[in-house]
Amino acid sequence: MGSPWSELLANLAVVAMFVSVWIHTHVWLTRKAAPVRTTAFGVLMGVGAVTVMMTPVPLQPGVFVDLRGTMIALAGFFGGPIAGVIAGMMAVAFRVFEGGIGSVAGIATIGIATVIGMAGHFALRGRAPGRTDIVILGAATAAAFPLGLIVLPSPIMRAVWADVTLPTTLLVFVSIVISGLALYQERRRVEALAVKRIYKAIVEALPDCLNVKDLDGRFIAANPATAMLMHAPDAGALIGKTDFDFYPQETARKFREDELAILEAGVPSTIEQRLHHRGDVFGWLSTMKAPFRDQAGAIIGMITHNRDITARKDLENELADSRVRLTNALTHMADGLVMFDAEGKLRLCNDQYRAMFPLTADVRQPGADYRDILRVAAERGEEIVPPGKIEEWIEGIIGSCKIASNLQIRLGDERWLDIRTRPTDDGGSLSVISDITAAKQVEAELLAANEKLSLLAHRDGLTELMTRRAFDDSLMLEFARSQRNATPLSLLLIDVDWFKRFNDYYGHPAGDDCLRAVARCIQATARRPADSAARYGGEEFAVILPETDARGAFLIAENLRRAVRDLRLAHDASEMKIVTISIGVAAFDVSGPSMERAELLRRADEALYGAKAAGRDRVHGWRPHVSAPLSQGMQKRK
Ligand code: GH3
Ligand code: MG
Ligand code: MG
Repeated sequence: MGSPWSELLANLAVVAMFVSVWIHTHVWLTRKAAPVRTTAFGVLMGVGAVTVMMTPVPLQPGVFVDLRGTMIALAGFFGGPIAGVIAGMMAVAFRVFEGGIGSVAGIATIGIATVIGMAGHFALRGRAPGRTDIVILGAATAAAFPLGLIVLPSPIMRAVWADVTLPTTLLVFVSIVISGLALYQERRRVEALAVKRIYKAIVEALPDCLNVKDLDGRFIAANPATAMLMHAPDAGALIGKTDFDFYPQETARKFREDELAILEAGVPSTIEQRLHHRGDVFGWLSTMKAPFRDQAGAIIGMITHNRDITARKDLENELADSRVRLTNALTHMADGLVMFDAEGKLRLCNDQYRAMFPLTADVRQPGADYRDILRVAAERGEEIVPPGKIEEWIEGIIGSCKIASNLQIRLGDERWLDIRTRPTDDGGSLSVISDITAAKQVEAELLAANEKLSLLAHRDGLTELMTRRAFDDSLMLEFARSQRNATPLSLLLIDVDWFKRFNDYYGHPAGDDCLRAVARCIQATARRPADSAARYGGEEFAVILPETDARGAFLIAENLRRAVRDLRLAHDASEMKIVTISIGVAAFDVSGPSMERAELLRRADEALYGAKAAGRDRVHGWRPHVSAPLSQGMQKRK
């Protein structure tokens, strides 16, 4: 038997070779399922175990030591139970095939290595093994080697113990640590590669531009988005080039200045850059630039991240433009405009609005609460509010903002404002306010003129009693009403006595005065609201007395006659020496037969002539028997 070191070192070389084979070939299996990869690893390690078992250290006939334990423990530890069992079974099969007195001890050694490898694998609980774990595995497998020797028959065990224990234990430990670390490094390399691949995929898929330049502004790396921005065929076409190769001189120079400023400052910075492509295409970039440093911290270039913000910039410009337009419109519009939000806070108003409320212009500011504004307006007397009802008034106005409304208000200084309010989609309100004081004045003047016109149309110019035309309308209405309601209706016809002589004696103007005085008397006598007195023609008057029967009418007529007498207006051309009147009374009696309106008039007229014929200054009611003899008088009158 020679020194076991040389054979075991040869074994170590075989172990290293098989681990190296795995490291160089496992990438072929990357796309295969995990059990396939595990099985392949187990088979390779099993073949490795069998190979080292073919070049053992023969101790006695049928008794061998080698580094099979290393292969088997590595299979279980890195590959898991499947790999461990496959490698172990292959080794056992080969050892059984070899036979000899050491076969039981050999199989025991294999079993122990399988168990240690798998136990180590399970102890990791799914995490990847670290360097310490590998050292522990090496130590455990090395320590277990003497256990295999114990199974040998004791004379043999005693004979070989001293020679092989140290080198085998040591080399098992060393081989496991070396191979384990190689597998560990390989795993790290694969992981790093995967991370790198992910980063590359992210950078390539990034819609933003990402690139690195050297100190002279030449591209070292760039993603496809950068190439697209710079109108280059692909990212590779940028490498070694500068902005001057792609942008107009002016733009490239400006970009370079920005870069130099950041290189000098040595800190990352974000700027907005105006972009000018060849062919007069413009745009905007938001650019983040950071110095690119080597491991020693020295700046060796610059990392740039660009985002195309042309659309955002266009929107910002559009927004700014529309703000200016809106402000212009608000400033130059003739009306006041105010907007309140859903909470009742003033959001926006123009100067015209404030000018319309000079006493509260100071509180009508953005952010002010509408309730506070109204309270101040009431307190300062700008708006007219019934005392003690300010809060009620405020709530009324706030409530009216929720619906579309048109309102005209009168301010304390007598100005009139027209307020048109509409609710807005966000729960607030928008009001447009116009000063309508001038329009209101015109309206009032128009109303007065209309009233005057109507008076002129319906009132007699001399006496201010109803005109004949208005009288006819009124009699028609009252006559119809009386028939409908079956209520009595009376009519007085009044004629001034000897009035022609009065005119002749005192002159026409004095006659007019006299008529006015008589008219006042008539007006004062027909006092009920429904009574209507009219100038019937010349110096004749008529009075309609609704709901008055013949008896009542006669009394009223008598009162009137007396009232005129009591005026004691001088009339020297009359035998009475004063102005008197004669009155004819006719009545529509509900209990009597039905009658036409013309008949009522005719009867009053007839009665009047009865009074004249009887000597004047008297009241005559219509009576059937007196109508016939007086018909002649009527004829004369017409
Ligand atoms: P009698 O007692 O019969 O009624 O006599 P009389 O003179 O009043 O007769 P008559 O009714 O015929 O006369 C009406 C006169 O009234 C004629 C006209 O001179 C006068 N008269 C009519 N209208 C006006 C008026 O608007 N102003 C004035 N001053 N006189 C008027
Ligand atoms: Mg007359
Ligand atoms: Mg007369």
